[in-house]
Amino acid sequence: MQTECIFCNIVNGKIPAKKIYEDEQVIAFNDISPAAPAHVLLIPKKHIANLLEVAADDQQLIAHMMSTVPHIVKQLGLAEEGFRLVVNTKDNGGQTVNHLHFHILGGRFMTWPPG
Ligand code: AMP
Ligand code: ZN
Repeated sequence: MQTECIFCNIVNGKIPAKKIYEDEQVIAFNDISPAAPAHVLLIPKKHIANLLEVAADDQQLIAHMMSTVPHIVKQLGLAEEGFRLVVNTKDNGGQTVNHLHFHILGGRFMTWPPG
């Protein structure tokens, strides 16, 4: 837990968020600045800076995050039409919060390539 980390502070309740899913290992909440009609961030409760910092003993946690995505997508009603999963990583990836997060985006057609 890093006290200066925005997402750690969402995990510990110091910063409010509109939670849409929570279990022992992860939390999902609405993005404060949505880029699509549905825009949810799925994060591990454990502070991991980015995908490159995932340790060998975090493998189960990452697998759990991946298997949580379909659950959230169905809860949001995005399963029929589809969605996009994005993991921005470091500067060129456009990462602005250094706590691992999966963007789950849906509710509109997503163009490709991304900007
Ligand atoms: P990224 O740019 O990939 O690091 O994504 C960070 C995301 O966190 C952005 O989409 C922000 O809008 C979102 N964000 C930042 N602060 C908050 C917050 N307090 N609550 C919810 N979402 C946030
Ligand atoms: Zn953190």
